[in-house]
Amino acid sequence: MANFCEKCGYPVKHNESFCANCGAALPNINYNYNCNADTNYNTMAIAGFILSICSFFGVYLGIICAILGIIFSAIAKKQIRVRNEKGNSFATAGLVISIIMIVVWTVLLFITGGFILGWFIHFLEAL
Ligand SMILES: [Zn+2]
Repeated sequence: MANFCEKCGYPVKHNESFCANCGAALPNINYNYNCNADTNYNTMAIAGFILSICSFFGVYLGIICAILGIIFSAIAKKQIRVRNEKGNSFATAGLVISIIMIVVWTVLLFITGGFILGWFIHFLEAL
């Protein structure tokens, strides 16, 4: 079980007094060890969730937001597992909503695409 440097987030062992990555002093690491009271929310999880909500607005913007939402949520889930952070439910929601919205927008694109193709065939037949 590793703890993390407050400055750079690099994993440090609980008996180390300096971060191996940035050299910052780790004064309270022994006191905070095994204490989950002040664990932070994962920012990638929040970003992924917001992006998944943004995917409701418009087809192309929606698809872009949903793809980004999946990427952010997937990274968030990995980070949460490693860093023992909060926000896993946000990451899960972001992932699920993003996947649903990609399917919805893709189906909608195919339907509208089909309409356009249908009108085009009608136009050709009329000639
Ligand atoms: Zn560090």
